[in-house]
Amino acid sequence: MTADMKAYAKKVLADIIAKDPDQKEFHNTAKEVLTSIIPVLEAHPEYKDDKLLERFFEPERTIIFRVPWTDDKGELQVNRGFRVQMSSAIGPYKGGLRFHPSVNLSILKFLATEQVLKNALSGLPIGGGKGGSDFDPKGKSDGEVMRFCQSFMTELYRHIGADIDVPAGDIGVGGREIGYLFGQYKRIRDAYEAGVLTGKGLTFGGSLARTEATGYGLLYFVKHMLDDAKINIKGKTVVVSGSGNVATYAIEKAQQMGAKVVACSDSNGYVYDPDGIDLALVKDIKEVRRGRIKEYIKKRKKAKYTEGCKGVWTIKCDIALPCATQNELDLESAKILVKNGVKAVGEGANMPCTLDAIDFLQKKKVLFAPAKAANVGGVSVSALEMTQNSERLPWTFEEVDERLKVIMANSYKKAKDAAEQYGVKGNLLAGANLAGFAKVAEAMHAQGWV
Ligand code: NDP
Repeated sequence: MTADMKAYAKKVLADIIAKDPDQKEFHNTAKEVLTSIIPVLEAHPEYKDDKLLERFFEPERTIIFRVPWTDDKGELQVNRGFRVQMSSAIGPYKGGLRFHPSVNLSILKFLATEQVLKNALSGLPIGGGKGGSDFDPKGKSDGEVMRFCQSFMTELYRHIGADIDVPAGDIGVGGREIGYLFGQYKRIRDAYEAGVLTGKGLTFGGSLARTEATGYGLLYFVKHMLDDAKINIKGKTVVVSGSGNVATYAIEKAQQMGAKVVACSDSNGYVYDPDGIDLALVKDIKEVRRGRIKEYIKKRKKAKYTEGCKGVWTIKCDIALPCATQNELDLESAKILVKNGVKAVGEGANMPCTLDAIDFLQKKKVLFAPAKAANVGGVSVSALEMTQNSERLPWTFEEVDERLKVIMANSYKKAKDAAEQYGVKGNLLAGANLAGFAKVAEAMHAQGWV
């Protein structure tokens, strides 16, 4: 039976690669998931007749569209917009929009697949999707961003809705972009359908603690993992990559828990501050002035700035939290971290560690918190935002944060228990894949061949 299911998974992977040979990021995800989930397939041989894997890795719908917009010089610009509606097996499609020049179908299919499993782990009734554009908001004026968002939504609106597909933010899509997108949606629909987008401003249906949710949630998850290993986070040295939404609030919660965060980065380089990162300064540079992280050293004399972001992993630390982007921590970086005595790695970004880096870390017994279980806090509070929108009642920060803590505890427990149940004790990545896939597969099987 094992050989049979392994052969089935192998064939599905070969077909995926043959069908879209250029979609490397998607192949990586498919490979990572397929190598973990064999035990679920063995427990359910009926899934093979269901062609469950073939369906799982084929998006239910993929939308690609033109986004024309006018820049400040009055010139027409044309970008490409995407929405990958991956799975609605357990709820409406849910997942962020990414605006970044690197956005393509491969990256979005990888992110959408991760989202399906992550959302299943959240314990909330949400399916998975992802979207975005190769538009780069960096260096654009507010007016340009607004006109782009309006044009983007003028096409996207017909494919989304509170019970259909609920986009949110991701890289390059923060509160400003969500505001413009929501404004245009409302204008076109002529109705106040607050639950169509999450990450909204607090004055128009947003949830308290959504901004903090992914970073805070990551630390709640990592703390459970450390507690189980009898490691106290207090006093530990932490390195965080990125200085965007996830990184900022990961730093904040790590500091609140008594850890010392000594470095963070952006796509140009990283800062090392031996006295501990001054988060108020990072927030001022990144959230208020939308500047570059190198400006940090102007105000902190002992801090050092180094060009190139990969070097951030050469800094000695107990806990490494990659919170910037995919594939930012590779095997070479993992080796340096291990040599420097790292005890735990927690993924805040989506798939920031390469597969060989993860493999190495796990072999060296470094505690590893995988993104799809550890960064589930963001989408979970998005789902709580939808709940508040349906109730037409806003909750307090404390209420949302308490629920977030429970969600992260459950996400940790599900990944840990599934790893134990299926004979890969301690492997939270395999556990997360197994638990998430088992839930989605059961729902797909129950709903027939659709
Ligand atoms: P932001 O756009 O707020 O921040 C991204 C950060 O990463 C910025 O500091 C950016 O630097 C840096 N960065 C971007 N590309 C690179 C690169 N190629 N190399 C090094 N650094 C880079 O995004 P988020 O914080 O929202 O998202 C970060 C990650 O977390 C993404 O993988 C996202 O998918 C994931 N995630 C986000 C969630 C959320 O709630 N926001 C939820 C779950 C996952 P610069 O300022 O120079 O652009």
